Amino acid sequence: MVAVKKSLPRRQFDVVVVGAGGAGMRCSLQLAQAGLSVAVLSKVFPTRSHTVAAQGGIGASLGNMSEDSWYWHMYDTVKGSDWLGDQDAIEFMCREAPNAVYELEHFGMPFDRNANGTIYQRPFGGHTANFGEKPVQRACAAADRTGHALLHTLYQRNVAARTQFFVEWMALDLLRNEAGDVLGVTALEMETGEIYVLEAKTTVLATGGAGRIWAASTNAFINTGDGLGMAARAGLALQDMEFWQFHPTGVAGAGVLITEGVRGEGGILLNKDGERFMERYAPTLKDLAPRDFVSRSMDQEIKEGRGCGPDGSYVVLKLDHLGAETIQKRLPSIREIAIKFGNVDPIKEPIPVVPTIHYQMGGIPANYHGQVVDWKNGQNNVVKGLYAIGECAAVSVHGANRLGTNSLLDLVVFGRAAGNHIVNLHLEKQRAHEAVPAESLDFSIGRVAKLEDSKGTEKVQDVGNAIRTSMQRHCGVFRTINLLEEGVGQIEELAQQAQHVAFKDKSKVFNTARIEALELANMTEVARATILSASKRTESRGAHALDDHPNRDDENWLKHTLWYSEGSRLDYKPVQMKPLTVDTFPPKARTF
Ligand SMILES: Cc1cc2nc3c(=O)[nH]c(=O)nc-3n(C[C@H](O)[C@H](O)[C@H](O)COP(=O)(O)OP(=O)(O)OC[C@H]3O[C@@H](n4cnc5c(N)ncnc54)[C@H](O)[C@@H]3O)c2cc1C
Repeated sequence: MVAVKKSLPRRQFDVVVVGAGGAGMRCSLQLAQAGLSVAVLSKVFPTRSHTVAAQGGIGASLGNMSEDSWYWHMYDTVKGSDWLGDQDAIEFMCREAPNAVYELEHFGMPFDRNANGTIYQRPFGGHTANFGEKPVQRACAAADRTGHALLHTLYQRNVAARTQFFVEWMALDLLRNEAGDVLGVTALEMETGEIYVLEAKTTVLATGGAGRIWAASTNAFINTGDGLGMAARAGLALQDMEFWQFHPTGVAGAGVLITEGVRGEGGILLNKDGERFMERYAPTLKDLAPRDFVSRSMDQEIKEGRGCGPDGSYVVLKLDHLGAETIQKRLPSIREIAIKFGNVDPIKEPIPVVPTIHYQMGGIPANYHGQVVDWKNGQNNVVKGLYAIGECAAVSVHGANRLGTNSLLDLVVFGRAAGNHIVNLHLEKQRAHEAVPAESLDFSIGRVAKLEDSKGTEKVQDVGNAIRTSMQRHCGVFRTINLLEEGVGQIEELAQQAQHVAFKDKSKVFNTARIEALELANMTEVARATILSASKRTESRGAHALDDHPNRDDENWLKHTLWYSEGSRLDYKPVQMKPLTVDTFPPKARTF
């Protein structure tokens, strides 16, 4: 059994950062270097966070290999977002990008190099020169292991700065006072099964994505949307959850990612007739059109009977023409993945691929300082003491569709910005720790106790699988309102079942059954938010593509969706169309 309330151990920090991926560790580094006491919690060893799996690169207009500017990067990102991205945050990110990358270089991140010593950059989907004229080389890469290089660099820097890591700790709930200010978190130490109260003057959510609510996903098993669940249970909104990115090239049948960097290096997609079909859909950018575009085109080919394989269920990615040397030097892990998961050696044969869930564009609403915001009375109000950064946040730079390489960028730009903002606020007013109200604590403890004592008959695995199957069927690459509405009913029913899950093994030490049950509660919130938000948006924008509403509808839908858990309620707020210093990029048709 879990510890009873009175004996709950407490620890105090200036800042608690939940998550040790790229976002969490870039932020904690800034904080630790400024001398604040920082605790970073992670469900796994920090360098096993999903950031480690990032392959292709980090976007920045360094212009090392072709002429580039942050302004073109900004245009691409606004257009890529199908105009749902907030243009102030996008300007901030694209302007900061070169600095953020040089900073990583100076931290010791081992980027690939050009002959003249500068950072190697490859082309990537949707990144262009001169407002869409032609592909540009903007993705700074360390072979096809960019995330690995990034995460290890940040970890080493944090160790040097004396950040305190709480490894294999799972944050459970946000603690709030009556005014709604955040005072820290409750957290489970997995090794002992003990629950702690971690009091903090500032709490940062950096818990990453929730791609595990789908059956076919490129995401790690730990990507269960815990930060989103915590925010939703605390009464905060989740924004734009209908927008999920399908990556065009997951290995068919396995879901493991084949980076867009393969197409950046010159790989091409073919249908069963050996036709390079992207030439038909996107005459200028071809295989390097943005991901939503390529995924839909692939789906269309498969639907119209031009898929490959015995049942025509995939297309193929050909790269043998790049030559063995380039493949071994630039794409070594891709070769390994293709051999292990696709049973083909890409030096000789093409890789069977299908669109696979990859990234959540939506998340916890935050401004470009990383502060979480609550939309009330027609304005964004800052939630005191709470920040959200990285994939769990909606800043919103990615809007309805993220460009490849912009996520690693978002992690370091906003991780750093949030760190600086916290340090400045902290120096201004050294506020003391505030006592955590009993009700806030009772809520969290009660939730765990209920699960612990549950006599229910539902199994965590069964409910989880049913959610994944339903999401896959009802909320895929192409959607219809009917399909989505059916999905809403199913997911709400499964959410009820999730209330009655039980697990038999009550042992305290490393009890993975308890952890999975707690994760299911978070996944349930994310699935509810996603499917309801999607079912109400009657237009096609970015990654949200409706067969029955194929066009974008700026008149009615150029706005962010907000979903609240209680009563599964929706609200909307305007998109920030005004950048910080330049003119607005007004909406126009999105062709490539
Ligand atoms: C296979 C793959 C390849 C990718 N390639 C690229 C690429 O080339 N370029 C690019 O820009 N983007 C890429 N992306 C996207 C990008 O890598 C992710 O969006 C990004 O790494 C997310 O970083 P993060 O810091 O937000 O979260 P993560 O790296 O996912 O880290 C989340 C952290 O939160 C912790 N955590 C979660 N819940 C809890 C909890 N309850 N308590 C305590 N800790 C918790 C986890 O332990 C982990 O430390 C890729 C994604 C995938 C899946």
